[in-house]
Amino acid sequence: MRILVTGGAGYIGSVVVERLLAKGHEAVIYDNLSRGHRSAVAAEARFIEGDLADSEALVRTMHEDSIEAVIHLAGSSMVGESMRDPRSYFVNNVVNGLSLLDAMLKAGVLKIVFSSSAAVYGLPETIPINEDAALKPSSPYGESKFAFERMLRWYDEAYKLRHCSLRYFNAAGASELHGEHHTPETHLIPNILKVAAGEAEKVLIYGEDYPTPDGTCVRDYVHVVDLADAHLLALNVLERGSETYNVGYGSGYSVAEVVEMARQVTGKWISTESAPRRPGDPPVLIAGADKIMRDLGWNPRHSELDRIIESAWRWKLANPNGY
Ligand code: UDP
Repeated sequence: MRILVTGGAGYIGSVVVERLLAKGHEAVIYDNLSRGHRSAVAAEARFIEGDLADSEALVRTMHEDSIEAVIHLAGSSMVGESMRDPRSYFVNNVVNGLSLLDAMLKAGVLKIVFSSSAAVYGLPETIPINEDAALKPSSPYGESKFAFERMLRWYDEAYKLRHCSLRYFNAAGASELHGEHHTPETHLIPNILKVAAGEAEKVLIYGEDYPTPDGTCVRDYVHVVDLADAHLLALNVLERGSETYNVGYGSGYSVAEVVEMARQVTGKWISTESAPRRPGDPPVLIAGADKIMRDLGWNPRHSELDRIIESAWRWKLANPNGY
């Protein structure tokens, strides 16, 4: 298929493009490079530097490249930042998302895979979290993803625009070519590896008094290659209708366990320091993963935490300055 990938120069988007190309699809990347990197763009993909707000440029691109489906990853994605600056989250993720949907309707492209988030659930009542759990986002980030999911539902009903929303749990790790490089870096594994590489003195542990076995938060870390492969399977859903899936393994590791595993994988001592809880962090987020495995035959191949950290460490050693 010929796919438009918004945010294709970002961490997850670049791996999605890598997997699309490997499976014989054609990819057109549309990214404003506000968070993504030009050098993360695959040479075999066409690249358009553009903003989602520019609906006309999107329509033109969809026509010129005979786009058949969109994988929409462009957006703002940090909970903490969204608490301080909700406006930019609603502008980027909702208003600009609407501009993309307008362009799709104008261009007659009626298939979209949407990068949603476990943040739509907020503080979960039960673990693991299944797709039919209550949606009560506890941050503007989660709220903005929820709002876009709701728009998709009505666009399906009224305009037959088919969607597959993927609620990511914690993307982690690297492919051979692409890894995680954010500025500033807020995510746990890259921050731990900065310490292992001698670029930072210590990693802060945000909260050690959570109601979890060792007091630190538990997350379902998903290898970015497995996560990317879920997008390819999601494209098949669009032939039949619309759906929403969690993308996680159904098991979790605590912050302290991740630090310990990183010490083993890198062979480096990693100093830690206790820090206050980060606002908006739920104690445990673990996906109910049955639906995507059952319906789409998603068969993750990289679920061991040591391999996830190893892949991120390998990428970091090969790319000490990131992109
Ligand atoms: N975390 C931490 N120190 C860091 C970064 C993250 O203790 O330097 C914790 C964070 O509070 C959360 C978990 O690690 O409990 C995963 O955070 P991350 O930002 O990687 O992903 P999120 O769960 O926010 O999507």
